[in-house]
Amino acid sequence: MGPGLIFWHPKGAMIQFQLRRFIEDTILERGYSLVYTPNITREELFLRSGHLPLYAANQFPPMAAGEGEAESVRYRVKPMNCPMHILIYAAQQRSYRDLPVRLAEIANLYRNERSGTLHGMLRVRGLTMDDAHIFLREDQIEQEIFQLLDLVELVLGKTFGLSYRLDLATRPDKKLGTDATWDQAERALEQALKHRGATYRVDQGGGAFYGPKIDIKFNDAIGREWQGATIQLDFEQPERFGLEYTGEDNRPHRPVMIHRAIFGTLERFVGFLIEHFAGAFPLWLAPEQVRVLPISDDQLPAAREVQSKLRAAGLRAHLDERNETLNYKIRDAETHKVPYMAVVGQREAEAGTVAVRVRGSGKKQEVVPLEEFVKRLQAENRTRALSPLT
Ligand SMILES: [Zn+2]
Repeated sequence: MGPGLIFWHPKGAMIQFQLRRFIEDTILERGYSLVYTPNITREELFLRSGHLPLYAANQFPPMAAGEGEAESVRYRVKPMNCPMHILIYAAQQRSYRDLPVRLAEIANLYRNERSGTLHGMLRVRGLTMDDAHIFLREDQIEQEIFQLLDLVELVLGKTFGLSYRLDLATRPDKKLGTDATWDQAERALEQALKHRGATYRVDQGGGAFYGPKIDIKFNDAIGREWQGATIQLDFEQPERFGLEYTGEDNRPHRPVMIHRAIFGTLERFVGFLIEHFAGAFPLWLAPEQVRVLPISDDQLPAAREVQSKLRAAGLRAHLDERNETLNYKIRDAETHKVPYMAVVGQREAEAGTVAVRVRGSGKKQEVVPLEEFVKRLQAENRTRALSPLT
């Protein structure tokens, strides 16, 4: 019902849900706060942030005011969270001790991308971004960039096993702010990369309109390049909104702002994952983790018991109750790339065991006590392992 608007069906939604849980749990351990902000606000907010008129072509046209408001008032659907998070920062007195303030929101954003540039899940108009804004002192920039690069390494490197590279993207032609501010921001990012000993390339003119950025690029299993994560340094918006914190000297100072996303948009990232794993997701991401297959109707009660024990252990187990041959059901589970099959025959039903088939291991089957099977899968699920634990 509109170009570039994605409907997430149950399986895709489960993958998105797991990614959200993962990133939210991870950043809460690292001093972030979660916030939620409205999908529409008065247009004046985007005028103040400088998105309008500079970014107008990418925003959807304004909506009329709500009932009871002046007729001149206009609303806009949000293309970014930055101005909203700025308002949350500015709603309180902040002291140098409170910084960095890290506000995160996995938000639905709408961008009026030209229809010719739309492409499946990779370039959309309705996007879901794992966004965050960090408000900090200038002397904290380097430390924060280090923490962000660690987060990128944890998520992309360690969890997904990707090798990636860093691009330092500098000032574009269409930009806010003075050259002096840009010099300062570009230098700060460059220094952080150098002190970290990171290798990077310079992407001349590839920065955001409010500041330079570090873009993280990686390749999928068949060598195509993707861009997701981004770390952007912004001296401009704190200035426009007159943001302050009280320094050690009891005087007002201006904080700096970092915009960052790790997955980027979940549409694009899940699109990448589908291609990268060719649909065979690691256990923790697989929409269906185990398929329980009774050999005949006689084992249905035992198979139901197996399913409910797996579910109670936090695993996504489905039961194939169809009146089909076992071979047919196995082939079907293979087609759907379900990581594990648990076959229940008469012997297994009596012994409290399951005959386990691991995705990609052909006809190999191993009979294990149900409890052991549950423990093994829980460990694999919890550690977000890329392949089965042995
Ligand atoms: Zn932002």
